[in-house]
Amino acid sequence: MTPGRPVPPPLGKPLVLSDETADAAPATPSTPAAAQGTPTLAAAYGATSADSGLVPLTVARRAPKEDDVEIEIDFCGLCHSDVHATRGEWGTQNYPLVPGHEIVGRVRSVGSAVDDFALGDVVGVGCLVDSCRECDSCLEGLEQYCERGNVGTYGVKDARNGDSITQGGYSTSVVVDRRFVLRVPEGLDPAAVAPLLCAGITTYSPLRYFDVEEGDVVGVVGLGGLGHMAVKIAKAMGAQVVVFTTSDAKMEAAIELGADDVILSKDPEAMEGANRTIDVIIDTVAAPHDLNPYFRTLRLNGALFQLGLPSTDMPPVSPGALIRRRLSYAGSLIGGIAETQEMLDFCAEHGVVSDVEVVTARQLNEAYDRMVAGDVKYRFVLDTKTLQPASEKADV
Ligand code: NAP
Ligand code: ZN
Ligand code: ZN
Repeated sequence: MTPGRPVPPPLGKPLVLSDETADAAPATPSTPAAAQGTPTLAAAYGATSADSGLVPLTVARRAPKEDDVEIEIDFCGLCHSDVHATRGEWGTQNYPLVPGHEIVGRVRSVGSAVDDFALGDVVGVGCLVDSCRECDSCLEGLEQYCERGNVGTYGVKDARNGDSITQGGYSTSVVVDRRFVLRVPEGLDPAAVAPLLCAGITTYSPLRYFDVEEGDVVGVVGLGGLGHMAVKIAKAMGAQVVVFTTSDAKMEAAIELGADDVILSKDPEAMEGANRTIDVIIDTVAAPHDLNPYFRTLRLNGALFQLGLPSTDMPPVSPGALIRRRLSYAGSLIGGIAETQEMLDFCAEHGVVSDVEVVTARQLNEAYDRMVAGDVKYRFVLDTKTLQPASEKADV
């Protein structure tokens, strides 16, 4: 750890941002759909309004352009952000909306300029499918902080594709520019890898930014999808991990997951006992909550990273708590593409994957309710084989 002086993560192989490969010969033949330039109809599940729940839909996927990779989706994780978005908790959405940004599948076809992916490769797509590729953030490989606004995997306008609205991974296929496709290391269970594409990178990025290493003490608040990945990744980085949970039922589970200690956050005495013991806190709670008791658990120069994005304001932070220990209160948004690849390789090296419960399309609505109730260990993942066949006409 470098207290109070976070270091940027090494970005590994720089992202190729120019179109210099545009004239390169194709490494693999494209499918007939790609050759004919016709969109593909893909089965999907999504919301048609904030209170519709998730229903079967058919999505038109663009015919792969020269830099595109067409992916047959096998699994897609269910993130709490999908719940916030589809239920309109983050404000007005573009409906119909197919959520899903923890995508794992296999390459079905590639555009003529793609020479870094071949048919059958196991690949992933996370929360980003494009960005401006030109601003300082993009040039640094921090596409999530694109100064002109990143292009999220679902629900946003995609300027390079006729301002169409992006549609996510609760679907049988997706077409994504090669620059935003991740390589899934061999030998990992694809269903258990899917949540790494959001929950994994979202927790890896602040831990790397804070340069967490052996001997550091990491606090993880909320033991859900993000939280359980934070525990596993921080342990793999050599840290000691303390979990803060609101659920008595998760106390034992946290230790089984690898945590060194677990604190019931609604127990003031237990919270007081953790005073000045922690270097960095990763807060993943999906609802408003008081942060001040957590600041008291931080040591001098400690930091609290807010990752949860509730739909309503949080209780105010006490300036005194920050000032008296030179604490940092920070936010962090997913991770860039190069860092996501770094995270996948790190997880493969350390045998880290998500603990998942695979669900069918028909179980999606129940899975959302269970997620909101905290009743999942620790990530639901949709098996896309269970989606209904696509209809003959696209809904979106
Ligand atoms: P999740 O699986 O539902 O986990 C959230 C955990 O928060 C719960 O398991 C629960 O853990 C705790 N919690 C405590 N009180 C809660 C309450 N009243 N309502 C809900 N949860 C409560 O969610 P997730 O997928 O990990 O996502 C967590 C948050 O991060 C969401 O707001 C999501 O939108 C956001 N997110 C942010 C980013 C980013 O880039 N910053 C990326 C992805 C997701 P205990 O039972 O242990 O207390
Ligand atoms: Zn997510
Ligand atoms: Zn940009």
